[in-house]
Amino acid sequence: MQNKHAILKDYFGYTTFRPGQESVIDALLAGRDALAVMPTGAGKSLCYQIPALLMKGLTIVISPLISLMKDQVRALKDVGVQALCLNSSLTNEEYAETIRRLDSGQCNILYIAPERLFKENFQALTAVQSAVMVVVDEAHCVSQWGHDFRPSYLRIAEFINGLKQRPIIAAFTATATPKVKEDILSLLGLREPFAITTGFDRLNLYFAVQKPANKITALLSYLKPRDSQSGIVYCNTRKTVEKVWETLANRGFAVAKYHAGLEDVERRENQDDFLYDRKTVMVATNAFGMGIDKSNVSFVIHYNMPKNIESYYQEAGRAGRDGERAECVLFYNGRDVYVNDYLIKHSGDDNAEVDEALIQHNLQLLKEITWYATGTECLRRRLLGYFGEKAPAFCGKCSNCNTLESTNITIEAQKIVSCVLRLEQRGRRFGKTMIIDILRGSKNEKIQNLRLDTLSVYGIMADAPLQTIRTILDFLIEQEYLIVETGDFPIVRSASRAREIVFERKPVQMTLPKAETKPLRRENVPAPQLFDKDLFEKLRSLRTTLAQAAKTPSYIVFSDASLMDMCRRKPKTQDEFLLVSGVGVVKLKRYGTAFLSLIREYESESGS
Ligand code: ADP
Ligand code: MG
Repeated sequence: MQNKHAILKDYFGYTTFRPGQESVIDALLAGRDALAVMPTGAGKSLCYQIPALLMKGLTIVISPLISLMKDQVRALKDVGVQALCLNSSLTNEEYAETIRRLDSGQCNILYIAPERLFKENFQALTAVQSAVMVVVDEAHCVSQWGHDFRPSYLRIAEFINGLKQRPIIAAFTATATPKVKEDILSLLGLREPFAITTGFDRLNLYFAVQKPANKITALLSYLKPRDSQSGIVYCNTRKTVEKVWETLANRGFAVAKYHAGLEDVERRENQDDFLYDRKTVMVATNAFGMGIDKSNVSFVIHYNMPKNIESYYQEAGRAGRDGERAECVLFYNGRDVYVNDYLIKHSGDDNAEVDEALIQHNLQLLKEITWYATGTECLRRRLLGYFGEKAPAFCGKCSNCNTLESTNITIEAQKIVSCVLRLEQRGRRFGKTMIIDILRGSKNEKIQNLRLDTLSVYGIMADAPLQTIRTILDFLIEQEYLIVETGDFPIVRSASRAREIVFERKPVQMTLPKAETKPLRRENVPAPQLFDKDLFEKLRSLRTTLAQAAKTPSYIVFSDASLMDMCRRKPKTQDEFLLVSGVGVVKLKRYGTAFLSLIREYESESGS
């Protein structure tokens, strides 16, 4: 009969599970509660959808946002699952019809907003009373320590306790902080759950920081070569959204905007324009996002630096959910730090007592993201480190790894440290500039007067650029081989570790700019798998036509990843089409003929 692998392929069209998915599925199928913490885009939905399809009875999925529910239900229906949703967007007739189908057992997975759980006798329905599983999606909403607290989530446990039989409870979130986890466990009443936190790395994402002198110019030149790609530009205020949106719109970009100051109707329209690919770029505040499961977002640009790494990673993580290569670019400017600092210190309404501890906590988080934006360390390593994960020093897929490289500076370090030691032997100590001057063999007056040009280290770094010597000197101070003593004026002296370099000849490495740094360009990213661009465009427009006919967003029909896989495989038969990633039995039936004939036609035209 059906098993999890068959469901994965037949319904969802995938052949392998992503990390963590299988173990959550197994736990749920064995009747255990579960708490899964997985990053945005990791594939949490399948973790409960597959067990739901294998269990007899109704699975109720509690989800905080209407757009998110609609999306999931649409996607499920499109692969042949009986899914429904209950939320405030339904008309009375639709509501009655949904209840009827639910009551007659015609529903396998029901999505519901938390506010609806106690309304209109929902809880009394026979199907609901005997539900086999309750899933809490975006479970961090139950915690006041999370960033999306929803009071209605607090009543979920009460709802579950009111059911005849206790269902299996599964909670999913991308927020990993211990306080939030504890709240989820206790407030939802999970019992000895199978708990898993998967790695936070998203291998298909390229991370970059840019420090543009003019952000608008930088944005325009970023967007120009990407006119057919979908992307989000996050700004920190409504005003900036309006300004950036206007500039892009005037230049003819297909751009939508989203912030809390817009009327509901306009906001929804703009969101749909983006989801349905009528507009390719969305300029928005952070009000836009949770529940945006659009899979083909190719880039997320942060026009301003957000308040902390957690928000940044969540927003940036909306890129590349389909597993294709995508970019996350942060535009940094020192002003962003001041603005955030101000916002943190003046947060909350005027009546509220200022929570000094919370402010300090938030300022610390601001520091961490500032280090991310200004540091020279591998960006991926910094992000993962923030979430408590170890990562190698070099990922090769971030702007720091692409412009910097780990360099052996053993010889340079020996020369610099020797210089400080030689001076100390003569009973002299100087500041950084003087040390650099001596090493470079400068002929300044002071050096000649003090006869420092007779030192053996005089001029031994005459060939090295001043900036390089300064960078390495700073590094040696940071690593505590040397110490800066501040008195009337700062002087450099040797630390006890200095002997490791001079006498023990210890090898020293540091990250330095590559000899010839190239500007950040897509070509610097490891080359993507090659695929036929012309065919891709044709498949894309077929997808648009089909999506319009079915009144769904294009990515519900097929993700970009599926289209690219079609380009690579160029399937000729139904069986071959079934091998394409994202193609299951129902999608084959629904769309197979149309796509196969397009591919066949294309192949014969191009004479292959
Ligand atoms: P999350 O809720 O964790 O942010 P989703 O459940 O929305 O992520 O999944 C993100 C994307 O990954 C979806 O487009 C989904 O179809 C895809 N996906 C999920 N599991 C797999 C898998 N095993 N193989 C390939 N794609 C997958
Ligand atoms: Mg999700």
